[in-house]
Amino acid sequence: MAGMSMHKAPAIVVLGPGSLATAQRIQLCYPQASIHGLSGRVEGADQLYASFGDTLRTLYQQDTPIIALCAAGIVIRSLASLLSEKGVEPPVLAVAEDGSAVVPLLGGLGGVNVMAREIGEALGVAAAITTSGELRFGTCLLNPPQGYALADIEQGKRFVSDLLAGEAVRVEGDAPWLEQAQLPASESARRTIHVGHQARPSSRDELLIHPRSVVVGVDTADLQGIRAALQAAGIAEQSLACLLAGEHAMADAALHEAAQALGVALRFAAKPGDLRDMLAQALPGAELIEQAGTVIAVAPAPVDAAQVGRRRGRLAVIGLGPGAAELMVPAVKAELARAEDILGYETYVRMAGPFRADQVQHCTDNREEMQRARHAFELAAQGRSVVVVSSGDPGVFAMAAAVLEALHESSDPAWHRVDLEILPGVSASLATAAQAGAPLGHDFCVMSLSDNLKPWSIIEKRLDLAAQADLVLAFYNPISKSRPHQLGVALEVVRRHRDGSTPVVLGRDIGRPGQTLKVVTLAELLPEMVDMRTMVLLGSSTTCQFPRADGEQWVYTPRWYPAPG
Ligand code: SAH
Repeated sequence: MAGMSMHKAPAIVVLGPGSLATAQRIQLCYPQASIHGLSGRVEGADQLYASFGDTLRTLYQQDTPIIALCAAGIVIRSLASLLSEKGVEPPVLAVAEDGSAVVPLLGGLGGVNVMAREIGEALGVAAAITTSGELRFGTCLLNPPQGYALADIEQGKRFVSDLLAGEAVRVEGDAPWLEQAQLPASESARRTIHVGHQARPSSRDELLIHPRSVVVGVDTADLQGIRAALQAAGIAEQSLACLLAGEHAMADAALHEAAQALGVALRFAAKPGDLRDMLAQALPGAELIEQAGTVIAVAPAPVDAAQVGRRRGRLAVIGLGPGAAELMVPAVKAELARAEDILGYETYVRMAGPFRADQVQHCTDNREEMQRARHAFELAAQGRSVVVVSSGDPGVFAMAAAVLEALHESSDPAWHRVDLEILPGVSASLATAAQAGAPLGHDFCVMSLSDNLKPWSIIEKRLDLAAQADLVLAFYNPISKSRPHQLGVALEVVRRHRDGSTPVVLGRDIGRPGQTLKVVTLAELLPEMVDMRTMVLLGSSTTCQFPRADGEQWVYTPRWYPAPG
């Protein structure tokens, strides 16, 4: 299967419209990859970027495999400053715009040559492989396929040099991927490639490769116990494919930490009986070893952790920010990339996109919040990675509270075990305030003027008290077609306590195309200046304004407050 050698989906980076067709052919072999196009120059890309160099460096630092459709020199120069740093080295390839050449540049141990061959095959050209070991033997011995781990890379480099210098080799154990390789094989060779799950002392004559064929069944998070059990059974830790626990332990943080410390996935299965039964059911055909309260399953071949039991589902309630991509927090971007299901009001789901073909979008009406929240839990409880999108911050008049209410009401343990996280965003009041200056620089009060979910009398009372308290007021949902008169009533209440000269900031579609920012006084403010896409920031007695050099106004509320006279 294409892409088997990689963990992360590659980024295909194109500079001009001429290479889009080649990019799309490459995308066919990596359906999870997204095409990044230079904004203003490339139409039809999945994502747009402004700076080629910055984009390449960010991808590199995030360990994302890079397929750049441009001259190798451009790629080398862009990444040069990062190359001396230790750390990640994802595969990096340059591909000629017209698809006539595929050049692996970096990431030899990350499988760049495998990718180069896959892409070469998709484009009908030979990849420009330059690695001597790889050329001579037709495979990179230091980069065994997924499901296998090299025991010691330094030792491995010496081993490959020995073979290049003329030593013969024989294979011990099961190494199906080496059957096609052109190794200098000899039955009497001193050098051996040993494939097995046993822990062995490292030896210069041996290239040791561990199949990930072992699963440990766990009840409690005893990292030391797991390591001790493996050691007592003579099993190399690198052969561990995953941990398997009963479903009831899904939310056990210490178990997740133990799996992370071991660098393996934590999977879950129903556990009606004991650990033995659970493992026997999850891994039929594996040999079961009992070792100091732990049960170890050793399968005859590498185990794909994704096929063992199931994983813990995840539900993230995310805030997109006001709209502009640069105001979206990186954690939210990462969450969108890993999401399998995206739920939300259609406008926001569209704003969160574009999505890959394998990501499922569930668009619903804005008012079906509770139903959407329950749907999200149903999907996440099945083990899926689910995202519920809100604009701005999800905790400000948005989905986070609805999701928590749905969970609070539910007695389904599977819902409560979901990995639930709320990821914040820049709320409309904050985005609007930043553009106007600092109108929220002192104490302020945030209100929604919508009486869909609360009685109007409460809104009037709170407005009255907040205005009396001389708080700056931030109005969300200030007006709508179904309630056109209420903003006028609200302003009457506020005017009882506040001067007509008070500055008011009106931000419409802030951070979105066609955004507008207006500063008026409370006396000038008319409901007609406001619609449901507007944020209203109404100053306190100390809020003031002064002209900025570009002809607009700065508005701010000072940090100090006059002492009561
Ligand atoms: N969770 C959102 C608010 C949802 S309530 C947030 O934190 O921003 C919806 C209201 O927010 C709208 O009626 C409008 O008053 C305000 N709003 C949302 N996005 C906006 C934007 N980009 N510009 C101005 N106001 C916005």
